[in-house]
This record gives sequence, structure tokens and C-alpha cells, in this order.
Amino acid sequence: MAYAYDDQNIFARILRGEIPNKTVLETEHSLAFRDIAPQAPTHILVIPRGAYVCFDHFAHAATDAEIVDYVRAVGEVCRMEGLEADGWRLISNAGTNGVQEVPHLHVHILAGRRLGRMLQPA
Ligand code: AMP
Repeated sequence: MAYAYDDQNIFARILRGEIPNKTVLETEHSLAFRDIAPQAPTHILVIPRGAYVCFDHFAHAATDAEIVDYVRAVGEVCRMEGLEADGWRLISNAGTNGVQEVPHLHVHILAGRRLGRMLQPA
């Protein structure tokens, strides 16, 4: 599937420095920052710097270096935030059914409280 990337999406603007963010970690190919509307005591988004719409797009089109950097960045954020002991959840929404609001790949790292069932009724 061909993914059309909208370079005016809010995370693209964050990457260009047009909108401020609360940065947690910067790597060569990835950026982690705090979600503006946290759903848990810890709610961090990790995005690749490249123009990828969703996880599938990234998995198909990103370089090995970008993929390794991104996966390691997610783990490093978890370690930096001390999440190993009590646990955490990783979510990546995609497309309409996934209720993805921002069309730039991101994973949500959620932690700091019991998160309940994985899915709520629609
Ligand atoms: P999703 O529904 O998976 O696309 O989630 C998008 C997330 O981006 C939501 O949790 C929003 O709260 C978050 N968000 C939107 N704008 C910003 C922003 N400027 N800085 C940080 N997080 C944001």
C-alpha cells in the first residue's frame, strides 16, 4: 500500500521545531516527548524523524538503521523512566479503525498506574 504523508501534521511541525515539545530523548533517527494530554502518569510518544505515516509504512520503507534506532529508543525511554519494575504498555494506533489522530508514526508509552483492560468498547 502507498502511504501519502502530510508534512503539515503536528508531529512533522514538532520535528521542524515549529511547535515546542517536552523532549525525553533525542537520537539520530528518533524523538521521544511527553504527550500533551497524558492518559497516565507517564505518557510518552516516540516518533521516527522520517516521514512515515504508521508502523506498516515504517516497517516497509524505513532503513535498517532507522528501525534499529527507533526500537532501541523505545526501550531506552522505558529504562530512563524506570518503568521495568511496575510495567508499562506500548500502543500504536493506525488509520481510521485504529483511531489515529496524528498521521505520523508514533508509539504511546503508558505507565504509572494500573491501565485496565486493553480495549474499551467503541
Ligand atoms: P493518536 O490518536 O494515536 O494519533 O494519538 C495522538 C496523540 O498525540 C494524542 O495522545 C495527543 O494527546 C498527542 N498530541 C497531539 N498534539 C500534541 C503535541 N503538540 N504535543 C504532544 N502530544 C500531542
